[in-house]
Amino acid sequence: MVSTVERDGQTWYECDECGLLLEDESDAKTHEENCTAEEPSYLQ
Ligand SMILES: [Zn+2]
Repeated sequence: MVSTVERDGQTWYECDECGLLLEDESDAKTHEENCTAEEPSYLQ
């Protein structure tokens, strides 16, 4: 899932799978759906 992070007065969206920070929420959600982290949540 995507978490919101406040940094430098701006809201960022963090991929919980790999920790990548993205400026745009829709970009973050798209990334998370296609994230290549080693342990995807759907395999747990
Ligand atoms: Zn990711």
